[in-house]
Amino acid sequence: MTFHPAKHRHTACLSSAKNRLIARAEQRSRRLGVNDKRVFEVLLSEHRSFSAYEVVAQDADAEPTNKRLQANQVYRAVETLIELGVAHRVESKNGYMACHAPDTCSAHQILICNSCDQVAELEHSKLDATIQKSVKETGFIPEPHKLELLGLCPNCADEQTTKN
Ligand SMILES: [Zn+2]
Ligand SMILES: [Zn+2]
Ligand SMILES: [Zn+2]
Repeated sequence: MTFHPAKHRHTACLSSAKNRLIARAEQRSRRLGVNDKRVFEVLLSEHRSFSAYEVVAQDADAEPTNKRLQANQVYRAVETLIELGVAHRVESKNGYMACHAPDTCSAHQILICNSCDQVAELEHSKLDATIQKSVKETGFIPEPHKLELLGLCPNCADEQTTKN
C-alpha cells in the first residue's frame, strides 16, 4: 500500500476498516468497548499517525457532548486495537495509526512523513530479511516491530519543489 492521494474515496477506507475491526473482535470473542470505537474513529479519520493527546483532542471536537477521554483510556483502547491487528504503534512519532490492510497485515515497514504525519505501510520482505540477517550477526535480539522510515510524503515533496 502506498500513500493515499489527498483526494480519494476515504468512505471506502472507513467502512472496510470498521468491518475488519468487527470481524476480528468476533473471531476472538472480544467485546468492543465504547472507548475502543471512539479511539478507532479518530485513528481512521486520516491516514496519519496520532498521538494520544491528539486522539483526546479530536475525539472531544467530534463529540463535544461526550465525557472527555482520559489518556489512560486511550492507551487501553489502542492496546486492544493493536492486539486485534487493526492499528499499529508508530514509535518514532510516539503515536498510533489505523491499519488499512484488506486482511492480515503483512507490511514490514511504515513510511512516515515528517511534515504532515501521513503514513503508508510497505510490504518489502527482502529489506526486512536483510536487516534481520545483519542484526542477527551482532547477537542482538530486536523487539518485533515494523521498521519505520521518516521522510517526506509525495504531497509534501511536491509542495517543497513548487516552493523552491
Ligand atoms: Zn482513505
Ligand atoms: Zn498494517
Ligand atoms: Zn506529508
